[in-house]
Amino acid sequence: MTNGQRRPGFDTLAIHAGQEPDPRTGAVVPPIYQTSTYAQDAVGDPRLGYEYSRSGNPTRDALQECLAALEGGRRGLAFASGLAAEDTLLRTVCQPGDHVVIPGDAYGGTYRLFARVAQRWGLEFTPADLSDIDAVRAALTPRTKIIWAETPTNPLLGIADIAALGGVAHDNDALLVVDNTFASPYLQQPIAHGADIVVHSTTKYVGGHSDVVGGALIVADSALGEELAYHQNAMGAINGPFDAWLTLRGVKTLGVRMERHCDNAERVAEFLLGHEAVSEVLYPGLPEHPGHDVAAKQMRRFGGMISFRAAGGEAAAVEICNRARLFVLGESLGGVESLIEHPGRMTHASAAGSPLEVPADLVRLSVGIETVDDLLGDLEQALAR
Ligand SMILES: *Cc1c(COP(=O)(O)O)cnc(C)c1O
Repeated sequence: MTNGQRRPGFDTLAIHAGQEPDPRTGAVVPPIYQTSTYAQDAVGDPRLGYEYSRSGNPTRDALQECLAALEGGRRGLAFASGLAAEDTLLRTVCQPGDHVVIPGDAYGGTYRLFARVAQRWGLEFTPADLSDIDAVRAALTPRTKIIWAETPTNPLLGIADIAALGGVAHDNDALLVVDNTFASPYLQQPIAHGADIVVHSTTKYVGGHSDVVGGALIVADSALGEELAYHQNAMGAINGPFDAWLTLRGVKTLGVRMERHCDNAERVAEFLLGHEAVSEVLYPGLPEHPGHDVAAKQMRRFGGMISFRAAGGEAAAVEICNRARLFVLGESLGGVESLIEHPGRMTHASAAGSPLEVPADLVRLSVGIETVDDLLGDLEQALAR
């Protein structure tokens, strides 16, 4: 693409991979091919290989190619949501009776997919602390097909060692899946550390503007990529052309956005650490975080997500969320605007009573890219007692 032999850098790939000027018009931005079907020149002879938009669409292809390049994978596949991607993955790779090890604090929707949906068709799973390799080994069964990791985790910001988990998975003929939603490919590329499949909710940092829901799978192996592409079409959980386009529009600035998310989050973490209304700050960028060294090894920086515990307990945590003004009270994460939420009553409410129940005094921040002094000012007033 550029510079002869050298592989283009991340930001170049984000802007150009899969995004050659449109062959017909020269449009610099890949058009939104808002069509369900394509004219064929003769029976069975589609012009550019496109027949029907569930099976293939040029706008979706542009996104898929770009995501594969950003994660260093062989194949990228885009879906209607992160959970649609996860569902397609599970039903492609697993048979009834197979077993998956999942994080003890998996994303709530992922947990629900395993507990309420996949288990009904015969998939077994065991939650384990993925930061503890012995605990992961102990959770394996002869039918373990997947070790499913998130790092950092949601909402406790736990860190799992991708290379170590890859070793355990491969020693046991299992696949390592990494949900890379929290880090984004800018901060962490799990395939380079031994993961087989990367999962994204592109709704979050990849899209980055809180205006589109989507998901993706990126795989290291092209045969597995082929199989997943077959199921993407056969199961039909694709994203539409406009959603693919919006996501691709967001991806172009992923690198610059992530740098600012990290800058701002580091300042916010520092501010919270020194605050009397806060009893604990969970941010992998802090040297005292138990996963700091592993995170430093596998991440470029430490991301924009921070959780903290309110010294005054659950009531105080809820109060802080309600008092925030610039930090918008809402679910989701990874957009340019800062969000605050109470996981126990919001994103993780469905985990109450399950192994995934989160501390009631926990507050989660998705630190956006606003002027950091304004963010600190808002937290200052929200934390004031
Ligand atoms: C949001 C999220 C998902 C699910 O993605 P959707 O796009 O909401 O379906 C999966 N994993 C993580 C870590 C998430 O934050």
